[in-house]
Amino acid sequence: MRLHRPGAPLIAELRPQPVPQPGQILVRVHACGVCRTDLHVVDGDLPFLGAPLVPGHEIVGEVVALGAGVSVPLGTRLGVPWLGYTCGQCEFCLRGEENLCNLARFTGYHLDGGYAEHVVADARYCFELPPSIDDIHAAPLLCAGLVGYRSWRFARDAQRLGIYGFGAAAHIVAQVASWHGQEIYAFTRAGDVHAQEFASQLGACWTGGSDQLPPVQLDAAIIFAPVGALVPLALRALRKGGTLVCGGIHMSDIPAMPYSLLWGERSIRSVANLTRRDGVEFLALAGRVPVATHVETFALADANVALGRLRGGTVTGAAVLLP
Ligand SMILES: [Zn+2]
Ligand SMILES: [Zn+2]
Repeated sequence: MRLHRPGAPLIAELRPQPVPQPGQILVRVHACGVCRTDLHVVDGDLPFLGAPLVPGHEIVGEVVALGAGVSVPLGTRLGVPWLGYTCGQCEFCLRGEENLCNLARFTGYHLDGGYAEHVVADARYCFELPPSIDDIHAAPLLCAGLVGYRSWRFARDAQRLGIYGFGAAAHIVAQVASWHGQEIYAFTRAGDVHAQEFASQLGACWTGGSDQLPPVQLDAAIIFAPVGALVPLALRALRKGGTLVCGGIHMSDIPAMPYSLLWGERSIRSVANLTRRDGVEFLALAGRVPVATHVETFALADANVALGRLRGGTVTGAAVLLP
C-alpha cells in the first residue's frame, strides 16, 4: 500500500519483492501496526519526501532471506521499528543519543515500511520480541510501546501520573505504569465516555475530559494526543516541580499562555523517536508485565479504512494490518 502524494489514499500495488542488501534482512510481514505517525506522513503533517513510499513501522515478521554479512537464522521472528538507520558518528550517536542522530532514517518514511507483504530492514535495528506475545498483539509494542516507554521513562518517578490522549501508546504505558505502582489519571476528549471506560479497565484511578482538573495535583503528565492546546491544560494540573512530557512526533501549535503556568520549576520536554536500548529494555519489560495490547485488525488492503478510523479517533487500543 503506497503513498504517492500526501492527502491522497494509499494505492494497492504489485511490486517486485525487495532484495536484501549487505547488512539487511528480508522480512515476511505477519502484522503491521498503524501508528499516528503514519497519519502524519499520509496527511502531510510531516514533510513529504518526494518519492512514493510504503508506510508502516510497527512490523512483526519472520526472516526469509539475508543480505551479505548477516547471520540471523532464517525463520527468526523479529520486530522492525521506526528507527531504521543511524550514522553512528555524529555527536548525538557518539553520546548514546542515536534517537537524535542527524542522519537518522526512519522506517515507513525514509525507508519503505510494513504496509506490505515483505520489507527489507537493517538487521542491526530489528528487535527480538517477547515469545509470550503473539504477532498481532506484539505489533503495537514497536512504536506505541517503544515511544510510550521512552516518554514514560521521564515520568517513572511520579506517583501521580496524568496521561492525555488515551490511544495506542497510552493503553500500553498505563499497563506499565500500573505495574510500576503509579496512580494514573487519564484525560480524554471531553465526553469520550468510551475511552474513559477503557482507561478505567486498564487501571486508571480517575478519568475525565482534558478540560477538567484532576482531584489532586499531578507529579508528571504525558501528552500523547497531537494537540498543542493540551500543554497549558496539562501544566495547570501539575504540582510545582512537575514534569510535562510531550510524546508525539507532531503537535499543533501551542497557544500563548501565562508564565505562571510554568513557574514553580515545572518543565516541559519532548520525546523523539527511540534508541535501540529503549527497545531492548521495553520489550523485555513488556514480556514481564505482561503488556496485553488491545487491537483491532484490518486486512492490508483496508489500510485506508484503518487510517480513517484512527483519524476519526474511533480505534480502541491499536489498529493492526494483516497482509
Ligand atoms: Zn548519528
Ligand atoms: Zn509510530
